[in-house]
Amino acid sequence: MSDIEKVSCLIIGSGPAGYTAAIYAARADMKPVMYQGMQPGGQLTTTNEVENFPGYPEGITGPAMMLELEAQAKRFETDIRWGFIDKVDFSGTVHKCWTEEGKEIHAETVIISTGATAKYLGLESEQKYLLSGGGVSACAVCDGFFYRGQEVVIVGAGDSACEEAHYLSKLCTKVTMLVRKDDFRASKIMGDRVRNTANIELLFNTDTVEVLGDDVVNAVKVKNSLTGVETIIPATGFFVAIGHKPNTDIFKDYINLDETGYIKYEQPGTSRTNVPGVFVAGDAADKTYRQAITAAGTGCMAALDAERYLAAKGH
Ligand code: NDP
Repeated sequence: MSDIEKVSCLIIGSGPAGYTAAIYAARADMKPVMYQGMQPGGQLTTTNEVENFPGYPEGITGPAMMLELEAQAKRFETDIRWGFIDKVDFSGTVHKCWTEEGKEIHAETVIISTGATAKYLGLESEQKYLLSGGGVSACAVCDGFFYRGQEVVIVGAGDSACEEAHYLSKLCTKVTMLVRKDDFRASKIMGDRVRNTANIELLFNTDTVEVLGDDVVNAVKVKNSLTGVETIIPATGFFVAIGHKPNTDIFKDYINLDETGYIKYEQPGTSRTNVPGVFVAGDAADKTYRQAITAAGTGCMAALDAERYLAAKGH
């Protein structure tokens, strides 16, 4: 038993939600311990320029912004640890968590900020340009601005893809939307909006073969799955909008999730989950906004809710 660590606030995940929760919790003297998770810094570390986070008038790269948030959390002595939590037991009054190395932690409060992971097609060329920042993105709101006045391609057929295609159509001269089946999955209203937008060209029954380019993307090769005919579409940006997967698998036995795996708030307007003392912030509970600033806002809420929970217990 002696090697069990007891903490008052454990933060799982290190995106804008986790770091903001850490800043607030540390300043409230809750001595937060953070496990950074599989991708320290979260999804923003795969973004180039962030221009829509208030306070950076010149913009900042995603990785640089996350280092700044980390430094701010450390300034107030957040105990930031490399590694991840891969098992929890929230059945009792003490919240038990285990690291991937088997270390057991008992936390009075837990803030889940594990985020979500954008799905990609998995093509080698897609990953190459994603990692190099050369024209592949999974977030039109984040990156669409860089393609204004240009031609882009977007893949996907759900509400997100329709919303993002429509968003891009206002910035770009032409948006080609690749739908793998013969119809959208999106709601009728979203599909109709795309159908009625003049500069969106819809290609149904169409698969992506390869993202083409040299240092940066300049075209996308596609194939009609009915005819087998391949076509090359000129484009400087390739947007992937085929869904996200919330990183919530380890919590599913204890925390209420919706049908797609997002954590459900026990009480809207708070960060509370169904387990007292366990709070959620950021994309693990947000399939609607998914922005750094909204994640940061809910990170603040989670830390304040955790602080009040501890205060009510007499801490
Ligand atoms: P969804 O899971 O609803 O849709 C994913 C889409 O991506 C599907 O059309 C699917 O195609 C397609 N897809 C998956 N894999 C591939 C692939 N390998 N190649 C090509 N296409 C692929 O995800 P969303 O992010 O769109 O939506 C998630 C949830 O959020 C939904 O419940 C949605 O309604 C909701 N939402 C609501 C919004 C709103 O109301 N304003 C806005 C955004 C999201 P297929 O259909 O062929 O399976």
